[in-house]
Amino acid sequence: MKKVPWINIGKKCKILGKKAKNLGCDVCTPISYENGNSDKFPDVKVSVEGREICLHTWELVEDSLKSFHSCVEICPGVKFFEWRGYENDSNTILFEKGDTRILVDSGHFHLLGSLLKSLDDEGILLDSIKAGLYTHCHPDHFDSADFLQQAGVKIGLSKKEEDYLRGEGGLLFRFFGADVPEVKNEIPLEKGKLKLGKIELSIFSTPGHSPGSVCIYWDEKKVLCAGDVVFPDGAFGRCDFPGGSYQILLDSFEIFDDLEIDYLLSGHGYAIIGKENVVKSIKESRNNLRAVIFSPW
Ligand SMILES: [Zn+2]
Ligand SMILES: [Zn+2]
Repeated sequence: MKKVPWINIGKKCKILGKKAKNLGCDVCTPISYENGNSDKFPDVKVSVEGREICLHTWELVEDSLKSFHSCVEICPGVKFFEWRGYENDSNTILFEKGDTRILVDSGHFHLLGSLLKSLDDEGILLDSIKAGLYTHCHPDHFDSADFLQQAGVKIGLSKKEEDYLRGEGGLLFRFFGADVPEVKNEIPLEKGKLKLGKIELSIFSTPGHSPGSVCIYWDEKKVLCAGDVVFPDGAFGRCDFPGGSYQILLDSFEIFDDLEIDYLLSGHGYAIIGKENVVKSIKESRNNLRAVIFSPW
């Protein structure tokens, strides 16, 4: 289990000194200070279960002091945190209505500091987020889910994906040298409507890239979080991981036939804005996917 580092409010931070404004932590070590790197730490605080802590209290946050998540407001109530770092991580999407905030796909744990910084720049603290929903359980989307759960965010993924995670899906984490997140599935994502606070979503089952993948649609905004089913530029999710199938992925594309999508937000790549662009982009991806399946070569 990943450890949430708690702090004693009132202590001065060993590294940041005054800059920490009385936010201290017991886990930061004096190593960076001795090396004269104290300026590297951003003056950013986040809140975990109502307690404020410095961002650098996360053990791996040093890797991501600079935020590589670029935040764009897609439409009122929808923020897209597009991953622009060098290594692979997923995009993150935030839905907001009144006091209800839902996060979709929080990415790798070792890159979480970047996302939290970006959220913080938008004035969003972790403890204001009601739910963290996941399109699927691959490490680049799901690795940080247990951390979010420990911070009080309710976590949801499909039951099928949960089973996959406990089986061969877990192998991918070991491949990346990470532990399989120990997460309680508090919001099982099954096909149909899902109401969380003031936000009503539609969940679509879209296996192929992984057995229990889902797409998450906010009807009111006509926004689709497509996970790794379909990407911009005619791309689609790879299916050569354990449990993947190109034919099943192609079948999953049928959900797009009846869905009006103004904003297509995929797990990787840029946002596609506008109905016509979305239709065109999905068509291109679908044709490319068909070509892979039916290629005589
Ligand atoms: Zn994936
Ligand atoms: Zn991915």
